[in-house]
Amino acid sequence: MTERGLLIVLSGPSGVGKGTVRKAIFEDDGVDFRYSISATTRKPRTGEENGKDYFFVSREEFEEKIQAGDMLEYAEYVGNYYGTPRSFIEETLASGKDVFLEIDVQGALQVKAKMPEGVYIFLTPPDIKNLRMRLEGRGTDSADVIEKRVAAAKDELKKMINYNYAVENDVVEKAVDRIKAIITAERLRVSRVIDQITD
Ligand code: ADP
Ligand code: 5GP
Repeated sequence: MTERGLLIVLSGPSGVGKGTVRKAIFEDDGVDFRYSISATTRKPRTGEENGKDYFFVSREEFEEKIQAGDMLEYAEYVGNYYGTPRSFIEETLASGKDVFLEIDVQGALQVKAKMPEGVYIFLTPPDIKNLRMRLEGRGTDSADVIEKRVAAAKDELKKMINYNYAVENDVVEKAVDRIKAIITAERLRVSRVIDQITD
């Protein structure tokens, strides 16, 4: 029987650097994860591509997918839907490949309720002031949206207790190293390797 792949979920407040850290992880030649591309009703930002960064869909299409049970989880965040297509995750894990998800806190906790065997990593900012500076520095959101994202972040930080690991994103390379160390350790769990030992 094929060993099921590992489900790795990187989550945390908006602006903490999830996308930046995820891209840095995927640039590393040593990693072999499949990235789960989310669907969203948000408009693409400059440089974002449909089918690479997100599947950009209309509200109607998104709501049809929810009704059809095609979303493993979804959340409405600052006026837009975001969700994780179910079939890709199930098929990839069953084929023995590891899947990497980068999603918000609401979504990660929904996935954890359904798939508690996953590895849940909470990315933290050095502090809230720094988080606000990152959102401002990214230059993609209006002052009003930034306030909403910061307010959401304060609530989200309280949910860290539900995760397996907390990784500070002070310096991107350090956060990447910490995440790689977690994944290395998770792959060595006795429960994962015991069936591979034969006489
Ligand atoms: P998220 O995906 O969590 O919303 P992003 O990856 O878009 O966050 O990062 C938000 C902003 O913070 C971006 O402008 C990014 O360049 C910056 N950033 C990310 N990580 C760091 C870091 N360790 N130090 C300083 N700035 C960072
Ligand atoms: P952004 O608009 O900045 O791309 O994303 C806003 C928030 O939605 C971020 O915290 C991002 O991680 C999160 N997000 C992205 N994809 C998903 C998803 O599939 N499900 C959920 N619940 N959140 C997501």
